[in-house]
Amino acid sequence: MKHIKQITNEMLQEKLFFIPTMGSLHRGHLSLIENAKQFELKIVVSIFVNPKQFNDSNDFKKYPRDIEKDFDILNNSKIDYLFTPDKEYVYGQNFKNIIHSGSIGKKYEGKSRPGHFDGVLTVVNRLFELVQPRKAIFGKKDAQQLFLIKQYVGKNNLDIELLEGDIIRDSNGLALSSRNQLLSDQGLVAATGLKRHLDTLKEEYLQTRDVNQSINYALEQNKDRNLTVDYLHILDKNTFSKLTEETTNAIIIIAGYVEGIRLIDNIDFRVEI
Ligand code: AMP
Repeated sequence: MKHIKQITNEMLQEKLFFIPTMGSLHRGHLSLIENAKQFELKIVVSIFVNPKQFNDSNDFKKYPRDIEKDFDILNNSKIDYLFTPDKEYVYGQNFKNIIHSGSIGKKYEGKSRPGHFDGVLTVVNRLFELVQPRKAIFGKKDAQQLFLIKQYVGKNNLDIELLEGDIIRDSNGLALSSRNQLLSDQGLVAATGLKRHLDTLKEEYLQTRDVNQSINYALEQNKDRNLTVDYLHILDKNTFSKLTEETTNAIIIIAGYVEGIRLIDNIDFRVEI
């Protein structure tokens, strides 16, 4: 594995598979790497904690960073390039190319974290410009992010094939996240409540087909003073908007706080008409 801070011209001659991350790597990230290995492309993993996607500077400061451990993990996983750019290399001076995430970017996660998805699309677009990959993969864990990136790539006809990685969970159903390491043992138990909300809402919705009633039921059933739910929505997966008569794929998204740490999760499923 080569560790680089800047993309070289030789790299741009190669066919690259790109996996952007913010580091503090876990099995979720590794599953994206495994996915990438199916292809005959050189694998580039980036680690860049993007200041533009943090609306809360304290959250940015607290975000876990462990580059030495990440280096060892990646060295063992036999990728081709570890790319850890500096902020100056990514954005330079007078950076202006802010990508706006539109109406869906202002809802759900975007409502609670204003500007977050503009920051995500801006960095993804910039990293795509720098790396010029053939393919890139993003995890379904960040479902709204994935939706917006797919929409952006589609609308702008970018010549990059996007792949999606399944959500990797621990044995208690908790979706792996770099933020989980900021939780105490008790916090990790409380965090498993996120997935329970998702499962309860799915069951209830499939039985009753009543969105509001099912959401209230899931919130009531899974009440826990150590988990503060920020939002719980059931949406059409293809539009990230309300369910309609035409909906065939639904997604339930949740965000909440445990010990002051923001966590998100989701599940998707087919809806029989
Ligand atoms: P992050 O380092 O959190 O920005 O995540 C980098 C990539 O890993 C994103 O595409 C995430 O969606 C993906 N990812 C994070 N957690 C998981 C997980 N538990 N399972 C699958 N992919 C994940």
